Amino acid sequence: MARVLVVGSGLAGLGAALESAIRGHQVVILEKRKQLGGKATSTDFDGIPVGFGPHLLLKNGPLHKLCKKLSRMKPKTSPLLAGKIDIVNHGPLKPLDNVQKSIELKRALKNNDVHNISIQAADFIASWGLKSDIRRKALLSNNLLTTNEGWQGLIGRIMLALDEVGVYLEQGRTVEKIEGKSVILADGKDTIADYVILACGLKESNRILKNSGLQDLPNIPTISASTIEVALDSYPFSGKHAEIDLEQKVAIFDMRRIAPNLTGLGSHISALKIIDDVSGQENLEQLEQALDSRCSGWKDHIISIRKTKNVSIGVRGEDRISADIYAQNNIFLAGDWIENAHILSDAALESGRQSARLFPKAK
Ligand SMILES: Cc1cc2nc3c(=O)[nH]c(=O)nc-3n(C[C@H](O)[C@H](O)[C@H](O)COP(=O)(O)OP(=O)(O)OC[C@H]3O[C@@H](n4cnc5c(N)ncnc54)[C@H](O)[C@@H]3O)c2cc1C
Repeated sequence: MARVLVVGSGLAGLGAALESAIRGHQVVILEKRKQLGGKATSTDFDGIPVGFGPHLLLKNGPLHKLCKKLSRMKPKTSPLLAGKIDIVNHGPLKPLDNVQKSIELKRALKNNDVHNISIQAADFIASWGLKSDIRRKALLSNNLLTTNEGWQGLIGRIMLALDEVGVYLEQGRTVEKIEGKSVILADGKDTIADYVILACGLKESNRILKNSGLQDLPNIPTISASTIEVALDSYPFSGKHAEIDLEQKVAIFDMRRIAPNLTGLGSHISALKIIDDVSGQENLEQLEQALDSRCSGWKDHIISIRKTKNVSIGVRGEDRISADIYAQNNIFLAGDWIENAHILSDAALESGRQSARLFPKAK
């Protein structure tokens, strides 16, 4: 049995910890924040789950499957309906009542016609500009889901499983560097590990590796966004699930229209604007203006709100990093930026599980 230290409790870290424990190791997760789950979680404000921007779960993707397997109670989900998504200055993404346009969309899908506006909108909302035919098809067949419990419900299921297999978790612990088997924390304390899995994001992994005297990771461009999540006591969106402005790279969802069982009254707006050439602050202001024009009077109806200026969604291109480049130092990497067959949260979870399979099982 080896001592495995996982740095970070996002989906990559949770996947790595679960797999390491299943393989018979003694596992500790160190998380720098008070909250677990990284970017894929939400916080309860007066019983209303407020997250880090819109998150859609791929039906029967790795995360959905794992959550179904881990708990007797299936995660409660609701599909985002493509027929209820509007494209600004265009109309419905999937025109259900227009046979001619429906045939055009089917043809565009078959021919992978990326000039077709519905295909562009589907790609944007399904994977935020990353390439994924699976998620595009899933969106158009109503197989991208929102959770009725917020993403903390999914994280909670994994946490319960980790507890059952005896994974030890410490919050408020920031890892600074690794010296041989010794892992040094920001508070000056240290801990011993045979294997370390860095599941703390690309930037932080790089910082820790640099501090440890190891070579930098290659630079990988990422897609970032500003987000606003807000619970309102009003209904500014008339019956739509979402609205997309392709030119502005803005998506606005009404999570409670999609998932009527989500706790709270009124609407739950989750909005995102991709950052191009402006600062996070400017981009956030532009997102607020988009909300002003799409959800008239929203600022007078706020119950709770979370704004994020600049958060990284995922890696921009096809290039990703191999999980085992520091294998000779017994350090492994995990995150959606690691070579992997999936994208977004599925990639994060799967990369963690795969990293844990790169060192031997306990005898
Ligand atoms: C706006 C937005 C929209 C998204 N939409 C979707 C979507 O629709 N569908 C989907 O599947 N995915 C989506 N994603 C992607 C998904 O959230 C991420 O892929 C996933 O959460 C990344 O998990 P991770 O574990 O790699 O990283 P993170 O979630 O960032 O976790 C890293 C953890 O490490 C901790 N940490 C950092 N440094 C240290 C340190 N030195 N010591 C200890 N702990 C440390 C952090 O506090 C954090 O908890 C979206 C992301 C964003 C931001």
